[in-house]
Amino acid sequence: MSTDDPRSRIPRTDALLTSPAAQDARTCLAEGRIQQVVQDVLARARRGDIAPESVEPELSDRLSAERPSRLTPVINATGVVVHTNLGRAPLSPAAAAAVQQASGYVDVEMDLAAGVRSKRGTAARDALLDACPVAEAALVVNNGAAALVLATTALAAGKKVILSRGEFIEIGAGFRLPDLIESTGARLCEVGTTNRTSVADYVDAISEETGCILKVHPSNFRVHGFTRSADVAELRSAVGELPIVHDLGSGLLAPDPTLPHEPDASTALTDGADLVIASGDKLLGGPQAGILLGKAELVERLAKHPLARAVRVDKLTLAALEATLAGPTPPVSQYLHADAAQLRKRAEAIAGPLGVQVVPHDGRVGGGGAPGVALSGWAIHLPEKVAALLRTGDPAILTRVHDGACLLDLRCVPEQDDTRVLDALRAALGS
Ligand SMILES: *Cc1c(COP(=O)(O)O)cnc(C)c1O
Repeated sequence: MSTDDPRSRIPRTDALLTSPAAQDARTCLAEGRIQQVVQDVLARARRGDIAPESVEPELSDRLSAERPSRLTPVINATGVVVHTNLGRAPLSPAAAAAVQQASGYVDVEMDLAAGVRSKRGTAARDALLDACPVAEAALVVNNGAAALVLATTALAAGKKVILSRGEFIEIGAGFRLPDLIESTGARLCEVGTTNRTSVADYVDAISEETGCILKVHPSNFRVHGFTRSADVAELRSAVGELPIVHDLGSGLLAPDPTLPHEPDASTALTDGADLVIASGDKLLGGPQAGILLGKAELVERLAKHPLARAVRVDKLTLAALEATLAGPTPPVSQYLHADAAQLRKRAEAIAGPLGVQVVPHDGRVGGGGAPGVALSGWAIHLPEKVAALLRTGDPAILTRVHDGACLLDLRCVPEQDDTRVLDALRAALGS
């Protein structure tokens, strides 16, 4: 290489690794990742793709675009509140702050006053019992499916679980609850038909072999017409001491008039369920978790089962769950109950300057909750091709593509993001 070869002016690797850009990047990126980016940029310079003088600025740009996690924050403009593909429930600021605080050392299994080991997760359980006082005890595990596996294993492994044929459901991504239950070694005893199951169907199926009766909320579909199902109160008076487990799915702790067909933990327990199961990150609006509430004796039996250790919840979840319950109304609940007139006003404030229309648009609960319930609201009506630009832009904005249009619904967009949405739309529309 002669001295007038421009490649001789390419900075050296060690100079780049100690450059201010690399130093800054060390606060959030692993050394290996930084070295990789440096090598990439140098390789481009050696190929002549970038000038030697551009190496440092290019490195700086590349490193500042790198993030230690590649999960991309998304503005949810679909109108679907519990969006499965977007991580279901967004945490409340209080819950996010609690996660941040719990990310260091915390007294999750330590009684600081007495200086001894304590039970794990007591504070989150207390918060659940405060929110659902009819429950005698609570247990938190990794997710709803884990709660169901733990309950059926502890109560019915090697025995029968009685389940109505109308409640043989698939919860999404191909997971079928009957398969999950049978994986525990419990045998499913199907009763009734797809559309009709009576109390007598359950009673007739009970034998010495029965471990529990399971009710599963069909959380992602509804059956209309000639239908009948046995509710918990009817079952309670008919099945004696046999444990009744109710998988609620969505996680309402008390009735919500906006969602009249959605079961809730307090009512199910008052009606006589021994154990209810719910997810933490659906309508409860908290972190992914499986929540078990009910009779102290049963909850204790589950907590002591060896499987409980395999589905144990982590400290971050416990912190977020407690703060979701003890803190201000979480986003899921705010979005669910968002005022349509207010949504219209916000949509018009964005659509006006862009010269586009605002149209009526129903939001959805989503994520296996309240199927068929339309949350009336409004959407900004845009050309269909804008959807892909918004989805791949910065910030990433996910809209609803329907009937050849891109519909942007502000229901699940925090109001402080409205200006970012307007800016992104300006860029996408080229106006
Ligand atoms: C969502 C759901 C589950 C699974 O809960 P995860 O928290 O996703 O594991 C189980 N049962 C019903 C009825 C559900 O709706």
